[in-house]
Amino acid sequence: MTRRPLVGGNWKMHLLRADAVAYCDRIRAEAGDLPADAVLFPSAPLLALVARKLGGSSIACGGQDLHPEEKGAHTGDVSGPQLVDAGCEWVLCGHSERRQNHHESDELVERKALAAQQHGLKPLVCIGETAAERESGATFDVLDRQLDAALAGRPEPFALAYEPVWAIGTGATATPEIAQEAHAHIRETLADLTGAEAASTKRILYGGSVNPENAAELFAQPDLDGFLVGGASLDPERFLAIIRSCG
Ligand code: PEP
Repeated sequence: MTRRPLVGGNWKMHLLRADAVAYCDRIRAEAGDLPADAVLFPSAPLLALVARKLGGSSIACGGQDLHPEEKGAHTGDVSGPQLVDAGCEWVLCGHSERRQNHHESDELVERKALAAQQHGLKPLVCIGETAAERESGATFDVLDRQLDAALAGRPEPFALAYEPVWAIGTGATATPEIAQEAHAHIRETLADLTGAEAASTKRILYGGSVNPENAAELFAQPDLDGFLVGGASLDPERFLAIIRSCG
């Protein structure tokens, strides 16, 4: 089963409009010649601008989060229809920084993934264990719990990102062996939950201190289908180099 690689760039709370314009001009110039699907996840005030700058290219735009409800009194939140209106195709659900800093539960992540799907967005659901969970031998239990919850409402289609919390923004990238072991486990659990065929087509991205130097070795792992990149996605040349390592 061939899965076209997918690489996401999570800008988090970085970059201003002028940076985003220069970035999009640069990356757009290379868009016709990339070996992977690519999607940028800017923060909310930049979404419409980035989506417009990337419009008509093979590079998509996505939100970093959405509220599960369509509209309402939710100060500071962004809805699925608003993301679609801004030109988004994708949305991150359950990034560890949302789970940790905003106390998002597995159940809320599932509601967000389902809402995304209902509004025509592709949810990229993030799962991953903390350092303490890995040290206590609970990694697979945590992944199963998060996956089970994310799929409870059967959100589909979507991609998954395995992002060990201890590797995000720390420089402590998972070894290719650790990443492959987790990805293989996730695919097995997916097969139990959704059937072998669906599991074999699902793209599972790795995230956690990916950079142009370590990407190719990680990408060589059979169950790893691309990356979700934070810090290294802020520089278009480094982001392009990571995308090219999936060729
Ligand atoms: C992320 O934010 O999803 C991420 C993986 O960040 P970094 O690449 O900086 O570790």
